[in-house]
Amino acid sequence: MKVGVARETAPGERRVALVPDALAKLTAAGLDVLIEKGAGVGAMIPDSAYEAAGARVVQTGDLYADSDVILRVQKPSGDEAKKLRKGQAVIGTLQPLLDPKLMATLADAGVSAISLDAIPRTLSRAQSMDALSSQANVGGYKAVLIAANAYGRYFPLLTTAAGTAKPANVLILGIGVAGLQAIGTARRLGAVVKAYDVRPETREQAESLGAQFVKLKTTIDATGAGGYARELTPEERAAQQAELNEVIGGMDVVITTAQVPGRKPPVLVTAEAVGKMKSGSVIVDMAASALGGNVELSKAGETVESPNGVTIIAPDNLPASMPAGASAFYSRNISALLLGMVKDGALNLDFEDEVTKSTVISHGGTVISEPVKKLLEPAEPAAGGPA
Ligand code: NAD
Repeated sequence: MKVGVARETAPGERRVALVPDALAKLTAAGLDVLIEKGAGVGAMIPDSAYEAAGARVVQTGDLYADSDVILRVQKPSGDEAKKLRKGQAVIGTLQPLLDPKLMATLADAGVSAISLDAIPRTLSRAQSMDALSSQANVGGYKAVLIAANAYGRYFPLLTTAAGTAKPANVLILGIGVAGLQAIGTARRLGAVVKAYDVRPETREQAESLGAQFVKLKTTIDATGAGGYARELTPEERAAQQAELNEVIGGMDVVITTAQVPGRKPPVLVTAEAVGKMKSGSVIVDMAASALGGNVELSKAGETVESPNGVTIIAPDNLPASMPAGASAFYSRNISALLLGMVKDGALNLDFEDEVTKSTVISHGGTVISEPVKKLLEPAEPAAGGPA
């Protein structure tokens, strides 16, 4: 079976789905690896490194014509989707719930779409395939570096002949995978770190990394299904906000990572809270996207300054800003998923397997993922609306 590695074409994307180190395992499983010319360039991996590891570098047309499976980081563009053909499989972080129509297009073309972001994350066997975690980890790390870079003072306590620098007070909102990495990184830079989450179990995790957990007087337990948070009720949100505003006002740096599956990210840093911060403070909103973010004033992909001198950064695609490190992790994730689906050198989709069942979105000409099928159903006409 031929496995092709696509060159990413999304704006700003510098990662690559497979790094040369991963090739040995794939070739040992009887797979031939084709690399689209220049696929690794964004991550500073030359074609020659892939060739040295046993892959064949091919032009775009040959990659799509010859590959049985195509590995990629992001979903294919419209043009790339048109190049895929019946019987081929494409594996990547396809975001099927955000773009169900693309899944229908791939299904109609007879393409098997397999999405890494649909793995059951609580299944311990799937941890090695968890690209959401590996990339969130990179994001949490980079968010802190970006904040430290934008902050006009030191993160650590410094005592020098020229005076003493106070350590930065850093607040991490949302203690999931990215938040935990952000805590660890900010602590290693010497900051005094506080952290907050609506899932009480995160307290111990934050403390074990040296952060002080912010305990609000209003007790909220918003533990949802599968280890995620649920959306807060309007009353809970109002109570949380009033207390959080006070905490945020005393911070030099705030990094937000809060997400609720299937919902807009919650707003945790209001314009009022930003108004209480000192000039020169920095906020990084990791949750910002076209859907909104955790910071009322943030603009996805931009850096803005509040009237009172607070820099608010909403970086786009943080993992792509550390492409070699992020690709190395991603490559392990995608190889583990692929190898779990290969038998005797060929793709063998066993739908009794929990990972296969969850990650294969389209197969055999139809969309088979239930959540995606649901999104593709025509919307019911609103009651009382025009017929
Ligand atoms: P996520 O990206 O969905 O959310 C990030 C954090 O934001 C979460 O901790 C969430 O509780 C928090 N949050 C949501 N609303 C909030 C609010 N109003 N105020 C403050 N915080 C808020 O989360 P994630 O990083 O993908 O991880 C979510 C969970 O999944 C964690 O429990 C993690 O340990 C778990 N997980 C488990 C596995 C595994 O078992 N193999 C793998 C990955 C993640």
